[in-house]
Amino acid sequence: MTVYFDSNATTQVAPEVVDAMMPFLRGRYGNPSSMHAFGGEVAKDVARAREEVAAFLNCSPEEVVFTSCATESDNTAIRGVAEYFGKATKVVTTAVEHPAVLQPCRRLKAQGHEVVELGVDGVGQIDLGELREALKGTKNALVSAMWANNETGTLFPVEEIAGICREFGATFHTDAVQVAGKIPVDVRKVPVDLLSMSGHKFHAPKGIGILYVRKGARFKPFMLGGHQEAGRRAGTENVPYIVGLAEACRLAREGMAAESAKIAEMRDRLEAGLLAACPDTLVNGDRAHRLANTLNLSFKYIEGEAIAYHLSDLGICISTGSACASGSLDPSHVIRAMGVPFVAVHGSVRFSLSRYNTMADVDYALANVPPVIKRLRELSPFGPDSDPTTFK
Ligand SMILES: *Cc1c(COP(=O)(O)O)cnc(C)c1O
Repeated sequence: MTVYFDSNATTQVAPEVVDAMMPFLRGRYGNPSSMHAFGGEVAKDVARAREEVAAFLNCSPEEVVFTSCATESDNTAIRGVAEYFGKATKVVTTAVEHPAVLQPCRRLKAQGHEVVELGVDGVGQIDLGELREALKGTKNALVSAMWANNETGTLFPVEEIAGICREFGATFHTDAVQVAGKIPVDVRKVPVDLLSMSGHKFHAPKGIGILYVRKGARFKPFMLGGHQEAGRRAGTENVPYIVGLAEACRLAREGMAAESAKIAEMRDRLEAGLLAACPDTLVNGDRAHRLANTLNLSFKYIEGEAIAYHLSDLGICISTGSACASGSLDPSHVIRAMGVPFVAVHGSVRFSLSRYNTMADVDYALANVPPVIKRLRELSPFGPDSDPTTFK
């Protein structure tokens, strides 16, 4: 039995997406740039896919650039804007971004750019006053702030952030990976300049990403070579994956409203059940502004890694911190930035759901997680009376 509660790390590919891709893995293998009709037909399929993605974001097809993943989209946006404007560009980001944003920002800092990482409060929200302060007196600043946090599901007020960026003439990039297929994304309503998404976070395969580039947004392309993607991302189009991604966008657009209600119901039942059955448990993130599929809990006095390991034996897939940080036992940078109390930082785990989960999955977790927590706590040398300074 597998109960998959790790959809913020990657998702099951939708069967409809596989079906849409298959013809392009078999007979329709032409190169969209070819002179002949065999390739030209495939170019039309790519154009249709681009229109589908544009409908998903409410932008024009020319504003959609296909990339290999969201890590590439984030890097292209951040490094590309900085390269366009040069050293004078101040970069403002947040302490809770994904490493695909944090690391390029830190590289820019090492290269001499002024880079500010805004801190967050206890629920993972930035202070918009601090953002304004950071942008005062800047010219051509770059702001990169995520739409929703992958670890806690906390939603940033992107519409207000976009407004502030407009006011200061800053370029605004948002990592929107975790909102794709979960809430409507409309780049006319939320006027971002650049936006990143990843296919495998919403039921397309791994290895395909989106970079939305508002008409007129200035950046230097990262991948140089051919003329593909109107010169903004060289490399022969990954046609099967582009077609699959478009199908995932269509499924999300049509199913999102009904699915999110169902997912919220499952997540809320899981949250309430675990909180009732496990004392000394905290919810991490902003419960008033949070993705419907994400539940991040800190079980005090025990290690998240031990929880995930024992649940894995029972077929329950969850994660601690970000997948990218696993392999090290350092607590998540997101949970630490939120100032979660010392005894709870190490016991943070994330449950993330998708349209393919069922109430039976939730009930299985409610039956199996609390005994694991209880057993680990019995083995733990830490408890309500232990000295927090020795809990490292
Ligand atoms: C998964 C994820 C990424 C990286 O996406 P890839 O397509 O795997 O490179 C970036 N940002 C966030 C918020 C993510 O959750």
